[in-house]
Amino acid sequence: MIETRNPATGQTLKEYEELSPEGIESKLAAAQSAYEAWRVSDISERTQILSRLADAYEANKDAMARQCTREMGKTLSSATAEVEKCASLFRHLAKNGPPMLEPETWELDGGGTAEGRWLPQGVVLAIMPWNFPYWQAARFLAPTILAGNVGVLKHASIVQGCAKLMEDMMGEAGAPEGLFQNLCIKSDAVEGIIADDRIVAVTLTGSEGAGQAVAQQAGKQLKKVVLELGGSDPFIVMPSANLDEAVSQAVKARIQNTGQSCICGKRMIVHTDIYDEFLERFSDAMKAVKAGDPMEEDTDMGPLSSFEQRDTVIQQLEEATKHGAKLLFGGEAFGDDGAYITAGILTDVAPDNPVTQEEIFGPVAMLFRADDIDDAIRIANDIPFGLGSSVWTNDEGEKERFIRDIEAGMTAVNQFLASSPEAPFGGIKRSGHGRELSRFGVHEFMNLKTVMLP
Ligand code: NDP
Repeated sequence: MIETRNPATGQTLKEYEELSPEGIESKLAAAQSAYEAWRVSDISERTQILSRLADAYEANKDAMARQCTREMGKTLSSATAEVEKCASLFRHLAKNGPPMLEPETWELDGGGTAEGRWLPQGVVLAIMPWNFPYWQAARFLAPTILAGNVGVLKHASIVQGCAKLMEDMMGEAGAPEGLFQNLCIKSDAVEGIIADDRIVAVTLTGSEGAGQAVAQQAGKQLKKVVLELGGSDPFIVMPSANLDEAVSQAVKARIQNTGQSCICGKRMIVHTDIYDEFLERFSDAMKAVKAGDPMEEDTDMGPLSSFEQRDTVIQQLEEATKHGAKLLFGGEAFGDDGAYITAGILTDVAPDNPVTQEEIFGPVAMLFRADDIDDAIRIANDIPFGLGSSVWTNDEGEKERFIRDIEAGMTAVNQFLASSPEAPFGGIKRSGHGRELSRFGVHEFMNLKTVMLP
C-alpha cells in the first residue's frame, strides 16, 4: 500500500494499493494498444481531446485544488491557479499545436527535396514530483496527446490522489482508453518498466539522485530521457534596479510553494552598494510572511510537503551554520501537528560551505554580497546547477552580460521567473537536459523522419 498524509495535520488521508506485476503488465498492454490507434489519429481529434481536457480541469478545479492542498500542503489559492494553468496549457496546444507538426522542406543542392515529418514514437514514461503535482505532469501530458504518443505516469508517492484525478479527467474528456494511465507504484518498479520494449522514452522531474538513477537505467536500454532536476537559482539585484519591486519579488520567489519550486530564486546575490538596504527591507518582508493553514484565504505559505522534507531542510540549515553561516531568523519548525516552518534568511555563507552547492527546498533564502557584476556572475555560476535565474538591473550593458554569462537554461530580466506554455523550459549542468513546453517540448519525444523525394 502507498499511504498519503496531510502535511498540515499529520493525518493519514488514504492508502492506495500498489500495482502488482500483473497490473503493470495490463496497463502497459493497454498503453501499447492505445498507441496503435492514436498514432494514426487525425490532428483534429487530438486537439479536441486537449480542449475537452481543459474543460474538465476547469469544471473540476475546486475538487482538484483541494486534493492537491490536502496532499502536499500548498495554499488553496495557489493550487487553484495551478489547475487553471494546466487548462491554459491544454488550450494553448489545442490552438497553436498543429503548426508545430507541419513538415519542413529543404531543397537539395544535388537535386530533389528532403522533407522533415514529425511522427510519434510510442509509449512515454513520466516520473513526476509532488511540488506542482498537476502542472509538472501536464507539461508531459499535453505534448504527448498532441504528438500522437501515449503516456504512463509514475507520480510521487505522496500525491497519489492527484495522480488518480488526472487519470479521471482523461475519462471525463472522452479520451480513448489507455491514452494516459496512472501507475500506482513505488520507485523500485521503475527500472523494469523502463526496460520494457513498449516504453520508448522517459521524462523525469525531481531530484538529482532520482535523475541519475533513471538516466542510468534508460541509458542501459538506449532510450531517450528528458531530465528536469533541481536548481538553486540566483536572484541578482544591482544598484540600478527598482528595489521595491526586487524585494517584493524576492520574497515571492522564496516563499512560493513554501520554497519548494525548482525555479524560484534561492540565492539572493546583492550588489554591495545596496546590500544593507536590501537586507533590511527583505528581512522585514520575510518576517511578515503569514504561514499557516493552507486552506485559509489569507495564508501566504502552507506547511512543507512532508515531515521528511521539513527534517531535510532543518538539517541542511544546521549543517550550514556549523560551517559558519548565520541564520538571521526563521527556518524553525512550529505548530503541534503539521510540517510547518518559518520563512528565514541565511547570511555569511562562505564559498566552501557545502550548502552553497545544495538546493534548499524550503522558505529560507541564502543572501550573498557581490562587489561588482563580475563577482555577482562568479557567485551565480559557482554551483553545479543551471536551471533558472532572475536579474534585476536597469543598465542595458549589465542585462546583456547576465544573459550571456549566467550558466542557466533560463534568465528572467526584472521579473520573477515562471514557466509559461509558449516558452521553452529546462536547464543545463546538473539541472538536467532537454526542454519542456513550446514546440521544443512537443518535439522531444517525436521521430523527425527525413523523407527524400525526387
Ligand atoms: P525525488 O526526486 O525522490 O522524487 C521525484 C520523483 O521521482 C517521484 O515520483 C519519486 O517517487 C521518483 N523517484 C525517486 N527516486 C527514484 C528512482 N531511483 N527511480 C525512479 N523513480 C524515482 O524527490 P523527493 O521527493 O525525494 O525530494 C528530494 C529533493 O529533490 C527535494 O528536497 C528537492 O531538492 C528535489 N526536488 C526537486 C524537484 C524539482 O521540481 N526539480 C521536485 C521534487 C524534488 P517516490 O515519490 O515514490 O519516491
